[in-house]
Order: sequence, then C-alpha cells, then structure tokens
Amino acid sequence: MPARRLDGKALAAEMRTEIAAAIAARTALGKRPPGLTVVLVGDNPASHSYVRNKQKACTEVGIRSTLHHLPTDTSEAELLSLLASLNADPSVHGILVQLPLPPQIREDAVIEAVGTLKDVDCFHPENVGRLAAGIPRYYPCTPYGVIHLIRRNGIDLAGKDVVVVGRSNIVGKPLALMLMQKPTKQNPTGCDATVTVAHTRTPDLAGVCRRADVLIAAAGKTGLITADMVKPGAVVVDVGTNPGPNGKLVGDVAPGVEDVAGWLSPVPGGVGPMTITLLLENTVRAAELIDG
Ligand code: NAP
Repeated sequence: MPARRLDGKALAAEMRTEIAAAIAARTALGKRPPGLTVVLVGDNPASHSYVRNKQKACTEVGIRSTLHHLPTDTSEAELLSLLASLNADPSVHGILVQLPLPPQIREDAVIEAVGTLKDVDCFHPENVGRLAAGIPRYYPCTPYGVIHLIRRNGIDLAGKDVVVVGRSNIVGKPLALMLMQKPTKQNPTGCDATVTVAHTRTPDLAGVCRRADVLIAAAGKTGLITADMVKPGAVVVDVGTNPGPNGKLVGDVAPGVEDVAGWLSPVPGGVGPMTITLLLENTVRAAELIDG
C-alpha cells in the first residue's frame, strides 16, 4: 500500500484559519493587529520568492507586514542600525531578516542584533538557549512545522526512534532538541522521542536510517534517502528543498520511498507551507509578549 500523505498544504490552510480567528479575537478587544517586519538585502531570486510568500500569508491572516528592501552593497553597520531602530519601534512585533546575506555582512552579528522578544525565527542565541533549557520563548519555524505535521496527523512521537539527517542551526539541531524533550507545562511541545542525529561523518547512514520509526531528511541533497534506507511503515518527513528539473523543487527523498513508508510528506506541499504558518503563529506570539 502506498504511503499516506502528510499534507502540509491542507494542514497549513486549517492552521491559518485558526490563526486568523485568534487575530480577529485580539483586534475585537481593541488590540493592534500583529506586525511583522521583513528585511531583505540584495536580489537573490529565491529570497524574493520566499519573502513574497511570507508577506502574502501575513495579509491573508490579518498580520500587518512591512518590507525593508536594501541594496546588495548595504554595509553591516547600516543593517545593524536599521535593526536597532526596528527593535525600538513599538509598532513592530516580529523582525525577520531573510537569509542568506551578502558576504560583507556577518550572519551571526545580525542574528544577535534582533531583539530577543521580536526574534520570530528563534535564531537568537538567547532564544536557542531557552529552547535547549526547556523554557522556550519561541519555537523555530521549520522544526515546529515538522512536529505539527506529524502530530496533527495523529502520530504519537513518545518513545519512538526518530532519526534526523542534518544538524544545521536552522533545522536539524533545534528539531532534535524539540523531539527529545520531556513535555512540561513550560514546554508542552516536548516530544519524548529517542533521537539520533546523522550528518556527513555518520558511518553507515543507511543502517542508521533503517532503525527509524520516524525519519526526517534535512540534508539538502536530492534523492539522498532511498527506499532501501527506510523501515517498512516508517513515517518519513522530507524537509529538503533542492532545485530540480524545469525549475521545480525536489526533496531529499528519492522516488520509491512511497512504496515502503507508512507516511510521507511531499515536496512541494509538505514542510514548506508549515514553516510559513509557524512564522505567522510566532508573530502572534510576539504581539502577545509585547502588547499583552
Ligand atoms: P545545511 O545548513 O546545508 O545543513 C545540511 C545538513 O545536512 C548538515 O548538517 C550536513 O552535515 C547534513 N548532510 C548533508 N549531506 C549529507 C549526507 N550526504 N549525509 C548525511 N548528512 C548530510 O542545510 P539546512 O539549512 O539545514 O537545510 C536543509 C534542507 O532543508 C535544504 O534543502 C533546505 O533548502 C531545506 N529547508 C527547507 C525548509 C522548508 O521550509 N521546507 C526550511 C529550511 C530548510 P554536516 O553538518 O556534516 O555538513
């Protein structure tokens, strides 16, 4: 039997309706609508497309979105000065700096310059530290999206063997943290899973993956996960978005996996729409933290 589909597009639509209702309820109480400010430096076509999608999603749920588009030769000092003014601006709830940045700007310096209450990407070291300590302020969007995609399809992660392929600061590492944590009142998203993180120095990647009840591919390598690497009936989540033929996006999971897995997320239409949805949720959270 082919794998059941982990349909991120459908779940994202359902969650965006819930988010729009939560925003309408806030504004009905006289509160300001949540506001997201996006900063884009340069003219990377993929970044432009990501920013357009994020702004469109904001408008659909009732979030005010503002774009600061800076030229490619913007200096680090100019960007840091803009961030200082956005941090001080009470009308800005969330700040998102679209990555990657041009080479003259240090990514770490920019991530640390976003105010911790406005850090809706959850990239600031203080917010990552809080996440690691089990006292999160925000959850990072892509990992949070992956967990929603699994759980809201009725799949319990407690006690499951989960393998995450990839250990980046944006996806693999925070996702592993969230999966292994104990759920508590302060951290209800904890998943109680038994987690293995694989990377380029992992010997026998196929053997490690075959142990997984839940296999999450976040390597950014087209077709890395093949059918022989998947335990029959496993849940497979494909985070990868790689350039494919005819300008289409393809994931890290190779064709044929759908014949072995029990569940599989498609690319596109799986994790991508969930990531944007959790950015919307974090922006509402920012408004709650800042305005009450
Ligand atoms: P990244 O920073 O390049 O990290 C990739 C990770 O995968 C690294 O830890 C790397 O290991 C590991 N890796 C690469 N090739 C491998 C291999 N052959 N075997 C085992 N491990 C391997 O990428 P990222 O930012 O985490 O993104 C990963 C993918 O997810 C990309 O395709 C990206 O476009 C996609 N993505 C999608 C969304 C979405 O919303 N759908 C959001 C974010 C990212 P080392 O650490 O050893 O180098």
